[in-house]
Amino acid sequence: MPSDFRIAVFSGDGIGPEITAPTCRVLRKLQDLSRRFQLHFEDAPAGASHYAKTGESLPAASLATAREAHAILLSAMGDPAIRYPDGTEISPQIELRKEMGLYAGLRPVRIAPGYPTPLRLPQDRVVDFMLVRESTEGLFWSMGRGEVTPDEARETLVITRETSRKLFRQTFELARQRSARQGRQGRVTCVDKANVFRAFAFFRDVFKSEAAAYPDIAHDASYVDAMALKMVSAPWALDVLVTENMFGDILSDLGAGLMGGLGLAPSADIGDTNAVFQPCHGSAPDIAGRGVANPIAMILSGGMMLDWLAARHGDAALAEAATRLQAATDKVIADGATLTPDLGGNSDTEAVADAIISALESGWS
Ligand code: ATP
Repeated sequence: MPSDFRIAVFSGDGIGPEITAPTCRVLRKLQDLSRRFQLHFEDAPAGASHYAKTGESLPAASLATAREAHAILLSAMGDPAIRYPDGTEISPQIELRKEMGLYAGLRPVRIAPGYPTPLRLPQDRVVDFMLVRESTEGLFWSMGRGEVTPDEARETLVITRETSRKLFRQTFELARQRSARQGRQGRVTCVDKANVFRAFAFFRDVFKSEAAAYPDIAHDASYVDAMALKMVSAPWALDVLVTENMFGDILSDLGAGLMGGLGLAPSADIGDTNAVFQPCHGSAPDIAGRGVANPIAMILSGGMMLDWLAARHGDAALAEAATRLQAATDKVIADGATLTPDLGGNSDTEAVADAIISALESGWS
């Protein structure tokens, strides 16, 4: 009896719908090949174009669909040309993060053959690490609360024991899954500035006490400046990094830069009960409507969703599907014959999805 999963799908704005359709097509193909799970996609209208049509950017019905789903697949939302009356941009994805308490932002950094990385890697080196960014507090806690006088400006950083503990537990669990899959000892590195700020010494202390519950996973700590250097000079030595919101904001863009392009960077935002999976890039209005957007970041976000569902529901078929999807996508990138213009190719969005589907079919046994 296959397991059933309801997936809320936010197709969003700009290139959003163009990359959502092929992503769902690839996920359906995985379901058909596996025959051991079923995905039911439920449309959740939201975003800037929905706001332009209806006056609502995140309708209550879509929020309810998202809350009740097993997972949320979100493409890209927002359009600089459509704004609220106060001039701010429409970002239901940020509202979702707040509404659902999605405190762990997962940003994988992988450099496989064919990735347009600006690094010159030694031949035998593989880069495959995970950055976990706390996403609800830290310096971002201060958003909208900053105090500015004519002579002074202040913002407050907040780190709580409760959120930090949950963040570190999620991180160590993730390190365990990676370690089991890769067949090697896992390591979590706490990235902070504990030598200068008491709040980060606190963050590191909480990290150390949570690490004690995971004796099978190695742990250490690094100052954020040293880590920025290491991400560039020896990224192959990293496994799982966990850090505060603002540091994570900066390091995750550095990570996307190391991979060589936004079109390849997937992400996940995880809470206690809900999780959103979406590409790191925005709605790219400059190329919307032309059918040339790279769907790979969103397809790989779909793979992260399968992986998360697999761990949450103890479902080996989903884990296998996620691994096969990664391998098929890597094959298409390394082959280089079917890529969108952002990766130097001349194929369109649907052709890339077709190539990934062919790679999945030919690899399935
Ligand atoms: P946001 O602030 O909403 O995250 P942004 O300002 O960072 O958005 P993006 O929409 O991510 O901008 O686009 C940045 C550049 O990358 C644009 O030139 C866009 O065309 C390109 N880009 C983004 N995503 C893709 C994609 N999937 N395929 C091809 N090009 C992309």
